[in-house]
Amino acid sequence: MGRTMTKQTKFVLDEEHIPRSWYNIAADLPQAPPPVLHPGTGQPIGPGDLAPLFPMELIKQVVSTEREIEIPEPVRDAYRLYRPSPLFRAHRLEQALDTPAHIYYKYEGGSPSGSHKPNTAIPQAFYNKQEGVTRLATETGAGQWGSALAFAGAAFGLEIKVYMVRSSYDQKPYRRVLMETYGAEVVPSPSVDTQYGRSVLADTPAHTGSLGIAISEAIEDTVTHPGTKYSLGSVFDFVLLHQTVIGQESIEQMEMAGEEPDVIIGCAGGGSNFAGLTFPWLGRTFRGGRAYRVIAAEPEAAPSLTRGVYAYDFGDTAKMTPLVKMYTLGSGFIPEPIHAGGLRYHGMSPLVSLLKDIGAIEAQSVHQRACFEAGVQFARTEGILPAPEPTHALKVAVDEALEARESGEERVILFNLCGHGHFDLSAYERHLSGQLEDYEYPAERVEAALAALPRV
Ligand SMILES: *Cc1c(COP(=O)(O)O)cnc(C)c1O
Repeated sequence: MGRTMTKQTKFVLDEEHIPRSWYNIAADLPQAPPPVLHPGTGQPIGPGDLAPLFPMELIKQVVSTEREIEIPEPVRDAYRLYRPSPLFRAHRLEQALDTPAHIYYKYEGGSPSGSHKPNTAIPQAFYNKQEGVTRLATETGAGQWGSALAFAGAAFGLEIKVYMVRSSYDQKPYRRVLMETYGAEVVPSPSVDTQYGRSVLADTPAHTGSLGIAISEAIEDTVTHPGTKYSLGSVFDFVLLHQTVIGQESIEQMEMAGEEPDVIIGCAGGGSNFAGLTFPWLGRTFRGGRAYRVIAAEPEAAPSLTRGVYAYDFGDTAKMTPLVKMYTLGSGFIPEPIHAGGLRYHGMSPLVSLLKDIGAIEAQSVHQRACFEAGVQFARTEGILPAPEPTHALKVAVDEALEARESGEERVILFNLCGHGHFDLSAYERHLSGQLEDYEYPAERVEAALAALPRV
């Protein structure tokens, strides 16, 4: 500390700069995405197949190839609570790393629920309300998505039911309390509220749950309750679309800073914050602009992009969802409870998976202890305590900056700090007291998952 700050640190846009449209990468993709298949027939699904789950406006967005999809005014109004989000230059972190690299981060932790998730929770609640839906069912892992949807439900007057993965429900009681404060009903998953949950509990009464199981429960809830639709916080194309406000703002803010990134990094669980930051930049490349190195950072404990296979798989454990082609560890994936870093989904968004398959993006996996170390260093230099998930992006950014030091290169690095860690202090406590262990996903389990994939 004690350093005088002569250079600009924070790049702020005013409200008129909240984007007026979302950026739809489908307009610019070099290759069309593989079709989504019906789980029963194996044939490509149509919009009608999704109608029981989602409102029509969201289904239209999934099939649209328009480059720009207008953001409704009530959604922009709600975005005004916390958007545009700030972009920071991490001068103090750069100094601590003694690197010639310039490190920038887009900070999404200033939203009401503390992450990027309200960027899609708000429009999902809005469109459902507009089409007469009264109740939404959803799943949540670490609790960030549940909190975001609970907030959006309160804002638009919708009832929210959240199936929360049991291990998180037990480890993160304050996330549950936040959801309940917003008015949502929260149950641990597997729960006794669905037939599927009861069947899992009958086999394994102490089951710690998984996102795949919680998704199955939320979908069963949706199709068995009239007036209810399903909502999800990652993976699906329209979720990624809504997150592109992040990248669009970052393009303007990097212009304010007078720089262009060489490397752009996001952590990837289902792929939405990663896509939100990087797709608008990738779109410029696909339309003939310069290429950037774009890196998805994921945990060694759930390494779908780096160790999974690119194949058709189910999005949930009960095999109720359509089949999508994606990088997957198999829909039976159960994360190790020792893993504290989030990003535990078995698959990856089909769009992000396609980009990895065609070589437009890279992926790296990182161990959780190194991530938490980077998180602590970031808190001590930049002041913001990152959520465990974005410490994966941070760790990769730090490695890039250290490499630039070795080679004496002036590298410009941009990463997404997609949430704060104020609800993750027990994970930080375990890290600080030396209780966290690294966990590498075993090769045998990757092979077993591959063998169990559905045949299409
Ligand atoms: C939900 C969440 C993630 C993982 O989801 P993505 O769709 O991959 O972005 C990552 N970071 C934070 C802070 C989250 O809330």
